[in-house]
Amino acid sequence: MKHKIFPELSSDQLFERAKKVNPGGVHSPVRSFAGLGHSPVFFEKAEGATLTSVEGKTYIDYCQSFGPMILGHRDPEVLKPVHEMIDTAWSFGACEPYSLQLGEWIQSHIPWAEKLRFVSSGTEAVMSALRVARAATGRHKILKFEGCYHGHVDSLLVKAGSGLAGIAAASSAGVSDAVAGETLTVVLDDEMALEEVFRREGKNIAAVIIEPLPANYGLLIQRKEFLIKIRDLAKTNGSLLIFDEVISGFRVALGGMAEILGIYPDLVTYGKILGGGFPVGCYAGRKDLMELVAPLGNVYQAGTLSANPVGMVAGYETLQKMQRVNGWQLLEKRGQYFEKKIKDLFNAKKAPIEFIRYGSLFWFHLKTEKPIRQVGQIPAGQKEAFRIFFLKALERGVYLAPNAYEVGFLSLAHDEAILDRTVKILEEALG
Ligand code: PMP
Repeated sequence: MKHKIFPELSSDQLFERAKKVNPGGVHSPVRSFAGLGHSPVFFEKAEGATLTSVEGKTYIDYCQSFGPMILGHRDPEVLKPVHEMIDTAWSFGACEPYSLQLGEWIQSHIPWAEKLRFVSSGTEAVMSALRVARAATGRHKILKFEGCYHGHVDSLLVKAGSGLAGIAAASSAGVSDAVAGETLTVVLDDEMALEEVFRREGKNIAAVIIEPLPANYGLLIQRKEFLIKIRDLAKTNGSLLIFDEVISGFRVALGGMAEILGIYPDLVTYGKILGGGFPVGCYAGRKDLMELVAPLGNVYQAGTLSANPVGMVAGYETLQKMQRVNGWQLLEKRGQYFEKKIKDLFNAKKAPIEFIRYGSLFWFHLKTEKPIRQVGQIPAGQKEAFRIFFLKALERGVYLAPNAYEVGFLSLAHDEAILDRTVKILEEALG
């Protein structure tokens, strides 16, 4: 940005003005710092692993736009083709080769994505996958898991995570009882409850949807046996399995959790990394299911800006670079490096904090005796402990996602020097 907008205003002043324009001063709830006792920082620049506020203060960024920026912000190898695309076209609303390039790449690397459709957000991808599942099975009910977030699709705001995490009534107003009534929920990591709901409702369940690595109510790493059980029960009951890999897709491995686990869904949803920081979502899956979508089939789904060429190029170039540099292996190594240093620090300081990591995703929670796999196992003091930790880190220049239940993201721009600096800052913060 060449010209500063509102050059005379601080973050606090901008927030006061924003509150007069949008609900709560934000365009997405978690950005508001609600419950943290601080007003949000307004940023004007992003580069690599850092964000710079309107006051000119630089922060090491572990939010990374909630996941899309796997290479870090404005990676030069993505920036150049994106510039070229912007110089060529912004949107066609017509057929073009850019989405074909990305689509073919996905199809050739992810065998369970036999056919796919690009949309503009993760929410849209999930909403469309549900529609396909209902059309394919002729059934109405959807089974989801407590604490999993699948975007703001009406029927999936029941017992969801993300911005709804930590709220007593974790469902949204404005969702009719009829719609909410079509959603069944089960606690994660509970095979008996799962069997019971299938025994009761199996014939009515169009699809089971799960984040195979639940990352919207903290990082609730599941046992593989539990996910196998879900796959088996869905199959024997004629229900479809949808993996929501909007966060885990292209992050934990090229083929996401499905690849790591060797458990393959009937339909899968992607977003975030796939657009390299631009608005892109995707639903994909079995050919017979995807061929139900219009204009081939009678499941209607459309989008003015779907497969926007700038997002298509950003996503494609991001993934090409990840492959070229073996990014997933590199991120695992950086994750291990960070984990060891953080755990050593917490031990040395006798801090009652646990550091949970899966690849380049991490989460801090108050120490517990057993690994946390369900929402109900998260200690009661989590919110307040996080508030203190977050503010101390923020003050010293480390930006974590502003919510006790959001995960942190590492990018390839988080090199060892930056990770070392972070650990030093957290050491000071722990006092
Ligand atoms: N599914 C999951 C697992 C997500 O984490 C999110 C967003 N964080 C969504 C769906 C919705 O994606 P979007 O915000 O792009 O609509």
